[in-house]
Amino acid sequence: METDFSPTNYYRAANLTATRVGPLPQEQTEGVDSANKIDLEKVARGVRMILEGLGEDVDREGIAETPARVARMYQELTYGIGVDAASEITCTFNEPGENLVLVKDIPFASMCEHHLIPFVGCAHVAYVPARGKITGLSKLARVVELTARRLQVQERMTAQIADALVAGLTPHGVLVLLEAEHYCMTLRGIKKQGSKTITTAARGILKDSDAQRAEVLMLLSK
Ligand SMILES: [Zn+2]
Repeated sequence: METDFSPTNYYRAANLTATRVGPLPQEQTEGVDSANKIDLEKVARGVRMILEGLGEDVDREGIAETPARVARMYQELTYGIGVDAASEITCTFNEPGENLVLVKDIPFASMCEHHLIPFVGCAHVAYVPARGKITGLSKLARVVELTARRLQVQERMTAQIADALVAGLTPHGVLVLLEAEHYCMTLRGIKKQGSKTITTAARGILKDSDAQRAEVLMLLSK
């Protein structure tokens, strides 16, 4: 069976199946497609070559559509490429007080750029507002989501979340902690299933003040 690899065909198919992953409402993802013009045809051709390299009959019924399907999946998993995560912090409020804000257990799934398989976990995001400038809690989840939807390493993702908060809120301090299971580690090699990698990034007073940072870490351990 011949598969049509023309770009038109792929883009049409992609638009028809443009479902959004992640916990947030549809209207917040508008404009996402225009930011992620990946070459679906090229990705599909590459997947087809992988299948051929594995010795598969690429025209057999079960996998004939796999290259196109995988290409669309990659489009979905990488829609954060080229999107400025700080631009998500669109609505800010002014609340008197400069008390710590901490959002725990924001789930995410990202993709290891070394192996192209997922790492999955939770983000915990804390900041100390300055001049009463705070943002909606869902915006923090959107920042996590956007930084996850690109080829990543966990250390860089952690730093990108922290930097987006600094850019969007200019707070007194930020602390981000990510814990994730890397399937490239647990499916192969040492095969330590369930083992977690923890990374942190701190900015401002949550970097400079041991006492302030300890307070956040204590709250996270509860
Ligand atoms: Zn990896």
